[in-house]
Amino acid sequence: MIPPAYGPEAASGLWVYLEQEGGRLESVALELIGKGRELAARKGTPLTGLLLGAEVHEAARAAIAYGAEHVLLADHQLLATYTTDAYTNVAARIILDRRPETLLLGATPSGRDLAGRLAVRLRTGLTADCTGLALEAGTGLLLGEVTGFGGGVRASIKCAHHRPQMATVRPGIFPLVDPDLMRKGSVEHVPVALSREEIRTEILERDLREGVDITRARVIVAGGRGAKGDFAPLLELARLLGGEVGASRVACDLGWISRDRQIGQTGFVTRPELAIVCGVSGATQFTVGIKDAGCVVAINGDPDAPIFEEADLCIVDDLFPVLEALIAEINRRRP
Ligand SMILES: Cc1cc2nc3c(=O)[nH]c(=O)nc-3n(C[C@H](O)[C@H](O)[C@H](O)COP(=O)(O)OP(=O)(O)OC[C@H]3O[C@@H](n4cnc5c(N)ncnc54)[C@H](O)[C@@H]3O)c2cc1C
Repeated sequence: MIPPAYGPEAASGLWVYLEQEGGRLESVALELIGKGRELAARKGTPLTGLLLGAEVHEAARAAIAYGAEHVLLADHQLLATYTTDAYTNVAARIILDRRPETLLLGATPSGRDLAGRLAVRLRTGLTADCTGLALEAGTGLLLGEVTGFGGGVRASIKCAHHRPQMATVRPGIFPLVDPDLMRKGSVEHVPVALSREEIRTEILERDLREGVDITRARVIVAGGRGAKGDFAPLLELARLLGGEVGASRVACDLGWISRDRQIGQTGFVTRPELAIVCGVSGATQFTVGIKDAGCVVAINGDPDAPIFEEADLCIVDDLFPVLEALIAEINRRRP
């Protein structure tokens, strides 16, 4: 066993990494504050947010409104944009100094990058891409729920001897709690010793796009291979219902729709009030992304399609005339 940098006896507190972009906290960080608060309360331990950036004081305040009790703020110009070296060096120093028992991060591109680097630097374990978090009865150890082998296996992973217990969690898994702007908390500025020589990469250009966020959609009209490359009726129905279009991985792989709309194990986990699922067979890798939907309407030509086992309303038919009829009916009822 690789000796831990520090063990359970020296560790305390539950931390959430407060990922931000341009001073705005990523929604998964807010979701993790909500879940972290619940876990911290059960353990009787404080909930701390770890925030790195440049001039991001407002983000610290937002984290407190969402439920963080204490925010450790590392503010430095070299942290203005994410780089693996700068963020790993600064976060690792703070963690080794303060020794949290648990550290939760969002499974975003940079959250995943940072988590992997930190786990190696801190000589601890990382449960990546969790779809659930729990505490083990008796020991209180963090249990990270993950799926493996193409969704065929669900496992709970714990990190018994090394600290911090680290987990990344996919966006959209936990609901967003309501902020309370009156909530009190403390912000502690942590001194940052960071030099440009520590950073081996240079950001020449950043291409940030404001993509769709299907994890927040109240209505989703999702299409699969059965849509045969024609997403126009799905887009129209989604527009009429004030929702977003989602898709199976096959539909994204075939280039029919952008990857940021993929639902499922390797896509996004959604929780809409209504999901209308068209021409999707219902593989578990897809359904894991809609299992928390309020109502699932499935349209499929095959009466034995597994998607019908997940559906509240089943329409066995060709999806195109059904969507056409739905769109016509909504238009007819519109004032
Ligand atoms: C590790 C791993 C991760 C994965 N992650 C994901 C993931 O995140 N998301 C995901 O979606 N998949 C994922 N997959 C793939 C998944 O296993 C399935 O292959 C995929 O979901 C199938 O997509 P589909 O339902 O669109 O296509 P198909 O399985 O081919 O189903 C098409 C369906 O359309 C119906 N149909 C055809 N024509 C019509 C019509 N005109 N009207 C009505 N119905 C029609 C058919 O009856 C059929 O049921 C993953 C697989 C692996 C191994």
